[in-house]
Amino acid sequence: MSTFKAPKGTYDLLPPDSATYLAVREAIAAPLRGSGYGYIETPGFESVELFARGVGESTDIVTKEMYAFETKGGDRLALRPEGTASVLRAALEANLHKAGNLPVKLWYSGSYYRYERPQKGRYRHFSQVGAEAIGAEDPALDAELIILADQAYRSLGLLNFRILLNSLGDKECRPVYREALQTFLRGLDLDEDTLRRAEINPLRVLDDKRESVQKQLGDAPLLRDYLCDACKAYHEEVRELVTAAGVVFEDDPKLVRGLDYYTRTTFEFVHDGLGSQSAVGGGGRYDGLSEMIGGPALPSVGWALGVDRTVLALEAEGVELELPATTSVFAVPLGDEARRVLFAKVTEMRKNGVAADFAYGGKGLKAAMKAANRSGARYALILGERDIEQGVVQLKDLESGEQTAVGMNEIVAELESRLG
Ligand code: AMP
Repeated sequence: MSTFKAPKGTYDLLPPDSATYLAVREAIAAPLRGSGYGYIETPGFESVELFARGVGESTDIVTKEMYAFETKGGDRLALRPEGTASVLRAALEANLHKAGNLPVKLWYSGSYYRYERPQKGRYRHFSQVGAEAIGAEDPALDAELIILADQAYRSLGLLNFRILLNSLGDKECRPVYREALQTFLRGLDLDEDTLRRAEINPLRVLDDKRESVQKQLGDAPLLRDYLCDACKAYHEEVRELVTAAGVVFEDDPKLVRGLDYYTRTTFEFVHDGLGSQSAVGGGGRYDGLSEMIGGPALPSVGWALGVDRTVLALEAEGVELELPATTSVFAVPLGDEARRVLFAKVTEMRKNGVAADFAYGGKGLKAAMKAANRSGARYALILGERDIEQGVVQLKDLESGEQTAVGMNEIVAELESRLG
């Protein structure tokens, strides 16, 4: 124990659990890599203004949760609270949209920061894997992203998640709905903050989790009833394509998301084993975002899945991922000469792709074998003085306990064949 602890709302990823996190990131990324998405990495911080414009001035994320600071050079920066605005900024800056191949499909993986009230499943530092398809308006693209997220969760063995789907309309029909909703909200018994929010962004009031608010929203007008013909047709096409792919979803006419830039298709992945922080991922179409940050019109769609909550969902379902053994062979030298010889063998094995570790620190046989067992290795290689004289090494199968002497020159090939 040192004087210091991880900051409030954060936690460290440590072995062996950290292996699960890596596997989750990999499982979410795999379907994207196989579907034409290229990897993008952007800085951990951006101009505050990018998020203010891109996420929305009135959102909780921007007003309350951003880690914003001024640099010594006088720049106003913020740790990134989400990925989409940065990815779009980077794509525009590099003119990826002008390369003539739309949509630009990108995926990313990284850390995000929000100054939230910490609780299980809600942290101030968390990890997401995300995907963005920039510059195309095509219901098949929206469907693709929903299907790929479903595929990722299924490949992890998750079953108890649900996909909620809605359309938020576009710049034609949403304003009409907005008015109707505002008129409705003004007639309710709401506190001052909420009334103010109703004026700035009434849709977000629908997302208010408080019981006192929710119970008044039963008769709220639904966007579904205000969608223009184009939005209706678009949404119907998305629904049909997702259904045809065998992916089950629920229509949720009240689904809105905490970010201002969403239009049309909106979806959320929720897991029923997670209590109040049930959203494991979410996304949708953001046709207006590019213009909001000073770019050309570029209709786009994307999602972000939370790695932390996906790991919690695995725990909630009791899913144990089949993780490859980190160490296949553990080498135990007995004496100085044996250490030199065996260390060279370990290096050779590693070069040949055999995951090998070594008993460091001059341990005796007993302690070294304990370390071998703890490493999870299938085989131990033990080398004593007599073995060196005879040109062999002892190969012990740690599962069966069986031990055989194998020629020093044959051992690497022998292990390669045994480990397949
Ligand atoms: P959002 O950008 O808010 O739609 O978040 C997308 C996903 O990121 C959520 O569904 C969560 O899985 C995850 N996420 C967002 N905020 C947090 C947080 N504070 N702690 C852990 N995971 C989060």
